Amino acid sequence: MVLGANGVPLDVGRSERLFRGELRAALVARDRGCAFPGCTRSSDWCEGHHIVHWADGGSTSLTNAALLCGHHHRVVHRGQWQIQMHPHGRPEFIPPAHLDPQQRPRSNTIHLRL
Ligand SMILES: [Zn+2]
Repeated sequence: MVLGANGVPLDVGRSERLFRGELRAALVARDRGCAFPGCTRSSDWCEGHHIVHWADGGSTSLTNAALLCGHHHRVVHRGQWQIQMHPHGRPEFIPPAHLDPQQRPRSNTIHLRL
């Protein structure tokens, strides 16, 4: 387990699959709502998504997480969008080539403005 500021667990590794408690609170504080570009869903509608999927050995940690609404969680699991962690510490989304041939990463800035 990795502890962040104030002893908040930010990485529970493989001990827990779900983002709960202080880890979910940290994820909500960072992404503030669905992290998918352009989505306005608030955090109440969202769940933690493993960027490296749990089934592929991904850990339950803030650096491997994106907050997604149910709809976008399903969209991401269809596998056409890729997610990577931007150096600023928030997830960014790489669109499939049929939507953007240059596949420029984008992130959701809506919740940052609210
Ligand atoms: Zn969404």
